[in-house]
Amino acid sequence: MSNRRIVIVGAGLAGLSTAWHLQSWGVDCQVFEKELEPGGLCRSKIINGFTFDCDGHLLYFRHNYTSRLVKDWFGSEIVRHKRSAWIYSFGRFSRYPFQANLYGLPQLIARECLLEFIKIHRNGIGNRKDLSFLEWINKTFGKGIAYHFMVPYNTKFWTVPLDNLTCEWIDGFIPIPTLGQIIDGTIKESKRNLGYNAFFWYPKRAGIREIPLAFSRRIKNIHLGCKVDEINLERKEIRLNGRQKEKFDVLIFTAPLPEIPNLISGMPNYILTYFKNLKWNSIFNLNLGVEDKFNFSKHWIYFPEKEFSFFRIGFPSNISPHLAPPGKGSIYVEVAYSTEKPIDKDKIISRIKKELKKTGIIMQLDAICLEDINDIKYAYPIYDKNYRHSRGKIIEFLIQNDVVPCGRYGSWRYMSMEDVILDGRDTARRVINRL
Ligand SMILES: Cc1cc2nc3c(=O)[nH]c(=O)nc-3n(C[C@H](O)[C@H](O)[C@H](O)COP(=O)(O)OP(=O)(O)OC[C@H]3O[C@@H](n4cnc5c(N)ncnc54)[C@H](O)[C@@H]3O)c2cc1C
Repeated sequence: MSNRRIVIVGAGLAGLSTAWHLQSWGVDCQVFEKELEPGGLCRSKIINGFTFDCDGHLLYFRHNYTSRLVKDWFGSEIVRHKRSAWIYSFGRFSRYPFQANLYGLPQLIARECLLEFIKIHRNGIGNRKDLSFLEWINKTFGKGIAYHFMVPYNTKFWTVPLDNLTCEWIDGFIPIPTLGQIIDGTIKESKRNLGYNAFFWYPKRAGIREIPLAFSRRIKNIHLGCKVDEINLERKEIRLNGRQKEKFDVLIFTAPLPEIPNLISGMPNYILTYFKNLKWNSIFNLNLGVEDKFNFSKHWIYFPEKEFSFFRIGFPSNISPHLAPPGKGSIYVEVAYSTEKPIDKDKIISRIKKELKKTGIIMQLDAICLEDINDIKYAYPIYDKNYRHSRGKIIEFLIQNDVVPCGRYGSWRYMSMEDVILDGRDTARRVINRL
């Protein structure tokens, strides 16, 4: 086997999956992770008997390879759940996805959404990927569903005007019901399981960090507390924690792509310009422990309306009773922000709490017994009109210099946990083919 040095930056799921696949196929590698624990965004915290993930993290399988791998490792310790997802608008709850569940809405709104969808359906323009995201919404769902859910929700989530976005990312993420399904969901409550997230998997007794921990237990040479603070492309060398140096022949990079200009000096100006085009949103995640269990079984709720600062909240204690002390409940709240749409971090927590009380999800604010924050700087890469070209040029430059980007943040794509596990496998294959 080749003795070329493979170094992996980051022990999130992408780095761990790459390392596990390489080592399973007999190829040595070293993983350097800045934190003291592997897992990246898939870490969990245990505080006073509550387990919180870094925001909501549920596992979805679209591929046999990943579902078999996880089930082989976990057996009955991983549980399949049928989603209970809702939307809160017009002061009431309706089932997710909005477009297939107009039944729960005020009649006039449901009528408008249905009529507009029928008009669009007749024109037969729907689902064209060369449109802006805004046009795609209007032409796929009609103006009613666009106005009452798709546009306000997505504007809140992406934090930028939707006509700046492309549709490159939406494959499989947004369910598109047929006219028949929309009519069914208008005349009666529908429990149809539409969309990639109709079922999800979650560890039986612990947080999502069990997934990266299962990888890390099977991998050699993970070095924690090792921050890569310089990558020297000429000398093929990285610097760790300002001191130690390590040589590489191939560097697999899973840390956020926009950090590259801080790590590699002397990059050509034209490449630096492409980096300036990379955009992302951030998520302010507030986790709350509450004194009482919930008297409902919802897993998560979407909030399209402007009067709520959050776009979604979820209930870990409704997924597994092991995630909260007996008799108590837990909530995660997600607020999106960016340079285009900043939030006031001094005021956001009290605003969130007041809004939760308004929905009736929390009756008394003094029922909150725990607060925990994850402020996620790089959350979702924004697919605007510069995205494809700029990302492509950056990746081409890095690969020419033996730096192989991988994972959601390294390769700068909207990817789920399953996607990054697969990306790790594919990256390992590509790297072995280069050796
Ligand atoms: C808010 C939110 C909710 C999500 N919910 C879900 C969900 O429900 N289901 C799902 O499937 N997916 C979900 N995802 C996606 C999922 O989190 C990612 O696909 C996955 O965790 C990405 O793994 P990664 O290894 O690519 O990146 P990361 O997890 O970010 O790992 C990168 C690693 O690199 C390390 N690192 C960074 N810089 C350096 C450095 N200089 N030196 C050394 N190490 C460094 C970091 O500490 C980190 O450990 C969600 C994402 C977000 C943002």
